[in-house]
Amino acid sequence: MRKTIIIGVTGGKGGTGKSTVAVNLAMRYAKMGKKVLLVDSDVESPVEHLLLSIERRKVAEMLAFRPKIRQDKCVKCNLCVDNCPEHALMGLPGRIPELHEELCSGCKACFYVCPVSAIEEYFASMGNIYEMEVNGLNILQGELKPGFKQYVNATLETIQRALSMKGDFDIMIIDTAPGTGANIYVALAQCDIVIAVTEPTPLGANDLSMLLELTKKIKKPAYIVLNKATMPGGKRKLIYDVAEKFAVPVIAEIPYDKDIMSKYFKGEFSKTTTKGRKDVFYDIAWKILTLLQ
Ligand code: SF4
Ligand code: SF4
Repeated sequence: MRKTIIIGVTGGKGGTGKSTVAVNLAMRYAKMGKKVLLVDSDVESPVEHLLLSIERRKVAEMLAFRPKIRQDKCVKCNLCVDNCPEHALMGLPGRIPELHEELCSGCKACFYVCPVSAIEEYFASMGNIYEMEVNGLNILQGELKPGFKQYVNATLETIQRALSMKGDFDIMIIDTAPGTGANIYVALAQCDIVIAVTEPTPLGANDLSMLLELTKKIKKPAYIVLNKATMPGGKRKLIYDVAEKFAVPVIAEIPYDKDIMSKYFKGEFSKTTTKGRKDVFYDIAWKILTLLQ
């Protein structure tokens, strides 16, 4: 079995370009001859298939618990209503509780508290897991269906599936959702190293601080990649101040490139070339390998 290096690519906020960085790193490692699995764990808004303009193949369905109340058994005690943390069950005196599916997180508290076992287990399809391949690069992606709130469970399922495949790969890159919630923890907890992608704005600096608090708490070695470093009006010093405060180095700056962004939005990312100019993504890819030695 191979020893697989797991690299987390994350960003405290949306729009920092973390998926751009994750895809580019994965492509560079694949070009170096490594077996690479890119994991798109941003289950609420996965983009890797769009960035690379490739077809995805469904390989598994993710299921979520939903309570199904048996009318013949329910004694209308409302215990399930009182214990639902999401207020997804509505109860009126003398009536069988009603479920508001869009609020249900699938936690099963109602199932366990019902004193007469009137709640049956029912599982609804909450999303899918997909696989894709392009130019020697393997991609695994989880996607939650609209209206489902189980983004932590769906992230966990996606990560678990990726981990079950890890022996087949030299490098696994986990592209997380934005933020610092439980879904980010679930993804980063598996990583050997965390790359925090940020941008030179006050919001970027603020969200980077929150992200570095998290990596400190979970004791993961973190490094900063400053994206859009040369953007007009950018405030690089804010990012370097955060880096100094947390003693987390900035390992690379990616220049602001309108061309890359327009290709990103047109789904032409896989055709982006760095011919004729320094390839910052190769540098980052090598630097990460050096840091892990
Ligand atoms: S599964 Fe949890 S969130 Fe859904 S109705 Fe039951 S108690 Fe409420
Ligand atoms: S806890 Fe059980 S018996 Fe009580 S209202 Fe809910 S489903 Fe009915």
